[in-house]
Amino acid sequence: MRLATLKDGSAVVVSKSGIIPFAKLGFTGSMLDLINAGDDELNKLRESLKGIKKDFILAHKTLDAPLKNPPKIVAIGLNYFDHAKESNMEIPKSPLVFAKFNSSITGPTDPIIIPAKITQQVDYEAELGVIIGKRAKNIEKGKALDYVFGYTILNDVSARDIQFPDKQWVRGKSLDTFCPMGPVIVTKDEIPDPQNLELGCSVNGITLQQDNTKNMIFNVAELISQLSFSFTFEPGDIIATGTPSGVGFSRTPPVFLKSGDVVCTWIKGIGEIINPVINQ
Ligand code: ZN
Repeated sequence: MRLATLKDGSAVVVSKSGIIPFAKLGFTGSMLDLINAGDDELNKLRESLKGIKKDFILAHKTLDAPLKNPPKIVAIGLNYFDHAKESNMEIPKSPLVFAKFNSSITGPTDPIIIPAKITQQVDYEAELGVIIGKRAKNIEKGKALDYVFGYTILNDVSARDIQFPDKQWVRGKSLDTFCPMGPVIVTKDEIPDPQNLELGCSVNGITLQQDNTKNMIFNVAELISQLSFSFTFEPGDIIATGTPSGVGFSRTPPVFLKSGDVVCTWIKGIGEIINPVINQ
């Protein structure tokens, strides 16, 4: 299933024939409520969808980020071979972890807002987002994908002139609107192999990143497993799994986002998010 959240806060299933609110399928709650409710509720929703009558199908409305209030966003740095190389960094021996604050989350067509007073070096990072479905602690790699709820697209927008001088990356990665996400969460049954997804990013129609998740240094199962020995994953947690090569700061000359740009971040099989850039 493809699941989304509308601007009015209601969670919906996105089907070929339209957008159907969870409430019409017998589940009254948000996306996070559904994730917390576990597999039984998800299966009930899937069953209800089969019997849906046409008059429950709504016209398309503007989508918000599918999940706005995850317990935490765990982000991974330098997780593609070519990106580690272009950053002049050694291949990490264990996942390089940082955090993004929830307040950075914005919708799949919402603007990326550059606070021009504090940054002039805003960069894009196309990433596969993993939504955790079940509490996970000390999980072996072979079982790790059982703890996934689904997958989404996110852009780990980064203010390089804050990220690098700060040393701690969290502020430069957490400015408001610096985590565009969506358009949907695709449940894991529809993505049996998260390590064979083409992804990329274009700015104003020019492709600047294009790679495949098979080139991750630590794959999704390894990330969940290894990190679960350090901290507990909660249902609804999001892992931003790292970005491939082609980011703006590594280019000669560097490419930074500016007001008027349009950024498209895509993953084959999930969709695309398209965010205009504006100055504040
Ligand atoms: Zn990133």
